[in-house]
Amino acid sequence: MDDNKILADLIFPNITKTIEDLEKEYPKRNLPEGAMVTRFAPSPTGFLHSGSLYTTLLNWRLAKQSGGIFYIRLEDTDQKREVEGSGKELLDQLKNFGIEPDEGYLGDHEEGNYGPYIQSKRSEIYDVVIKHLIEIGRAYPCFCTAEDVEDTRRKQERNKFRPGYYGRFATCRKVSIEEAIERIKNGESYVLRFKSMGNEENKISVVDEIKGKLELTENDLDIVIRKSDGLPTYHLAHACDDHFMHTTHVIRGEEWLPSLPIHVELFNTLGFELPKYAHVASVNKIDQENGTKRKLSKRKDKEAAVSYFLEQGYPKSGFLEYLLTLINSNYEAWRDVNPDADKYDFTVTFEKMGVDGPLFDVLKIDNICKDRLSRLNKNQISELALAWANEYDTEFASLINRDYEYFTKIMNIEREIEKPRKDYTRFSDIKNSIMFFYDDLYEDMLKNTPVLPFNENISKEDTILVLKTFLERNKMDEGESEWFNNLKEIGSSLGFATNNKEYKANKEAYKGHIGDVAQILRIALTTKTQTPNLFNILEILGKDKYEYRINNMINIISK
Ligand code: GLU
Repeated sequence: MDDNKILADLIFPNITKTIEDLEKEYPKRNLPEGAMVTRFAPSPTGFLHSGSLYTTLLNWRLAKQSGGIFYIRLEDTDQKREVEGSGKELLDQLKNFGIEPDEGYLGDHEEGNYGPYIQSKRSEIYDVVIKHLIEIGRAYPCFCTAEDVEDTRRKQERNKFRPGYYGRFATCRKVSIEEAIERIKNGESYVLRFKSMGNEENKISVVDEIKGKLELTENDLDIVIRKSDGLPTYHLAHACDDHFMHTTHVIRGEEWLPSLPIHVELFNTLGFELPKYAHVASVNKIDQENGTKRKLSKRKDKEAAVSYFLEQGYPKSGFLEYLLTLINSNYEAWRDVNPDADKYDFTVTFEKMGVDGPLFDVLKIDNICKDRLSRLNKNQISELALAWANEYDTEFASLINRDYEYFTKIMNIEREIEKPRKDYTRFSDIKNSIMFFYDDLYEDMLKNTPVLPFNENISKEDTILVLKTFLERNKMDEGESEWFNNLKEIGSSLGFATNNKEYKANKEAYKGHIGDVAQILRIALTTKTQTPNLFNILEILGKDKYEYRINNMINIISK
């Protein structure tokens, strides 16, 4: 028997399958021309990063819009870094954002014909491939310890050689097969390395879907493909998984670009067709301390965690919308022309992706969310606010549930009109701005506002007069503009100008203007100077409540 084969059988006595068997087990997918198969391949090492959601959204949209498949593979081969339960959490969060994979690891179970989708369950597949590499003389056991490798690296540094396990520095390449067999039989610990045939002097040319044509240095590293714990490294797993799962487009973070020559050599050696690659630039931010651009950091930036936006009550649709503006430079122009279209009617392309990492801009997220929230109808915003409150602010949830109908009315103020009011950025903004609608909370606000913000230039007596006359003469039944005209008349009869211009032209002649009249009422009814539309407030409170509040306010001021 061939020596390589003896070695392969010694290392993998139980592996009887061949690559051909695997090809049969995982046949080509039956998809229409142009359908893309993409994936999100998270490692279960923590929370869902905003940058990962960005890349995932891109992967998902490309698959969906081409009639393809988007699947999830859990890359859990680095068991030291694993955070218990985080795989499921990642999936729950994606689902929360409406990103539903077609197949793969789904958090509590797996679906699809190309599994297992959890790498730690795919050992047999990796071993079949690695065994094949040993048989053809393209993989070998390496007995170097971590210290040996570190020693070599230091020597290389000292003598100005490029660091790494390659060429003449690949010590265990020189170990004969007989010796290797002997050492394995003696129980020595080892890893398996790929035997590269590349040359550092050569260039390879690869087309990246985002970055275009790239000239890269050919790989000559004998990288580790199987660790001493029997698990594969990223490189080997990537080749096996994306091949047998028939990924058409590997869309991943650009930190993987330097490894691309390794992957090209692995795919070629195995006779696997190379997928298309797209390396996505990382999302950046401007560092608050030194003003420079840097990667959004898991450690330093609260906004790096998607959960931050959820807790804060940013609408998911607004956040996704923002990510789409980062993905494609033409998204905003499209949105301007199609303000009410479903955001996923937009076609995502690689061409419109930036080569440089986009800047993550929380102010812009705010603006987009404000706009999207203002476009929801009263039922949509009420339902979403309640769902958010149920999870993050139970006090607010019980306030909503006191009288859901009443809450919906409040949410309907200046909504479903041509220019809806943009008062909320996040669901967490709502509670404080609508508290005054609830009598007990209004009373608390009164108690907590020892000095009400009435205009000091208007006397106490005039303020009281405005309130009293309003009670006598308010007219609501003919609609808002009649109501306002009547309010102007009330003001005018008490010495207030009916508009600001009139007032400004002759300040001495007036006590103030119609805005001041409205402001007196606003403060009396809400304790605040900034509120939604006054007419709507009066309507929603109803006659009994607003009369009670105004009478009460007259008493307070009179004291
Ligand atoms: N598990 C890898 C990571 O977390 C996946 C990279 C890829 O998409 O291939 O970065």
